[in-house]
Amino acid sequence: RGASLTDFAEKVGVDAAQLVQMLFHLGEMVTATESVNDETLELLGEELNYVIQIVSPEDEDRELLESFDLEFGEDEGGEEDLVVRPPVVTVMGHVDHGKTKLLDALRSANVVDKEAGGITQHIGAYQVTTDVDDNERRITFIDTPGHEAFTAMRARGAQATDIAILVVAANDGVMPQTVEALNHAKAAGVPIVVAVNKIDLPEADPTKVRGQMAEYGLVPEEYGGDTMFVDVSAKSELNLDRLLEAVVLTADASLDLRANPTQDAQGLVVEAHLDRGRGPVATVLVQRGTLRVGDSIVAGPAYGRVRAMLDEHGDNIEEADPSRPAMVLGLNAAPGAGQNFIVVEDDRMARQIAEKREARERAAMQAKRRVRRSLEDFMASMEKGESQELNLILKGDVSGSVEALEDALSKIDVGDEVGIRVIDRGVGAITETNVDLAAASDAIIIGFNVRPQGKATEMADREGVEIRYYSVIYQAIEEIEAALKGMLKPEY
Ligand code: GDP
Repeated sequence: RGASLTDFAEKVGVDAAQLVQMLFHLGEMVTATESVNDETLELLGEELNYVIQIVSPEDEDRELLESFDLEFGEDEGGEEDLVVRPPVVTVMGHVDHGKTKLLDALRSANVVDKEAGGITQHIGAYQVTTDVDDNERRITFIDTPGHEAFTAMRARGAQATDIAILVVAANDGVMPQTVEALNHAKAAGVPIVVAVNKIDLPEADPTKVRGQMAEYGLVPEEYGGDTMFVDVSAKSELNLDRLLEAVVLTADASLDLRANPTQDAQGLVVEAHLDRGRGPVATVLVQRGTLRVGDSIVAGPAYGRVRAMLDEHGDNIEEADPSRPAMVLGLNAAPGAGQNFIVVEDDRMARQIAEKREARERAAMQAKRRVRRSLEDFMASMEKGESQELNLILKGDVSGSVEALEDALSKIDVGDEVGIRVIDRGVGAITETNVDLAAASDAIIIGFNVRPQGKATEMADREGVEIRYYSVIYQAIEEIEAALKGMLKPEY
């Protein structure tokens, strides 16, 4: 996770200058105020005969909250305080199988009978109601399709999803990303409901899809298994109610979804961005407790008082109960997707926690950026001209997409000789500062659903900085992977 040498020196009771010197002899040039990564700390520990225990960021944060008498993740009180809460659903599946269309259909189908002309906004999550056995039941959908977002959240140790809807196009059948999504859901222990989509198409073969899925261990109920399959058409809005029912029944059968609605609210950030007029806005998913306007909250390294809350229809709401998504206004910055939020006693406490987290994030980021490489290694590779790195600056419309992109990029592997280094990332338009940094570090700027601002394009042209724009993650990955392969030296 990393720490600055000065902090480390204080902990082990030696002079920071001595550490700098030791590192120099080990082949690393670092100044005392800079942060170094875990391996370097371990190395120093060995030299000093200390046993260095690296505390995970999760543990570190738990300790931080404990010092304020707070705990994240557990419902307060006993059994009697728990009330049934709606399941939270993520839609996953192969590209083009209809995830987005299905999310749109479910959302709009539900609005029509609610209030005429109500325009739904994309806030990152929404809730629908459905009748099951004459009971009105609610379901929350995470409005970012695909398992990239799901994985980015899990990478933070956050699990927002209770149930996964796996979309499989009936004309296409099981495809690589279907299997990938299935494995992600299984690894997270999340029950799956299969939506066999596009059954309006003449070439649709839903029976074949069932057979294929059974081979991957998802045996349809009608074949004696325990996975519910529903044939749907997102386009013709066919059987959407049956899909919702299947979600509720699966939740009832295999999950005990209850939460204490009376305590101070806690939950997760689904997405966040900087709004030109409103400042930082974050969509949060309440997991326990009830979030109210006026609450002091800390969300990842951001803090503030809830100035207003909006639902997915853009309407103001005063409170949000468990599994309810809400767009929160009043934070001082945009937190990251998957970071937790927690209501605390007062603004002062929120700020203190946020500032500690902010400082830690900065140190961790700095440590990550330092590629630990000995001087010898470096010189040798320079001489041979072999080691190459592609520097990238990532800019995206929401924090979730930037994280998903970075996560996916980090998985590209075309061998040891070439690699990717993300030197900066952020939410919002591409600025002159970004171009500046790119020029200084020979980096390419990746814009995901964002455009350049002011004179950024002009400046990029002048400085010879390449800016590439994408709106689909896998496309960005494909092109960057191809570029990396191009950097590989031909073998003779
Ligand atoms: P995603 O990549 O999984 O999010 O897929 P999209 O939702 O973008 O859908 C991919 C394409 O399939 C689009 O052209 C949709 O209009 C189309 N599509 C989605 N659902 C259906 C459906 O039920 N029937 C038909 N015929 N086309 C669909």
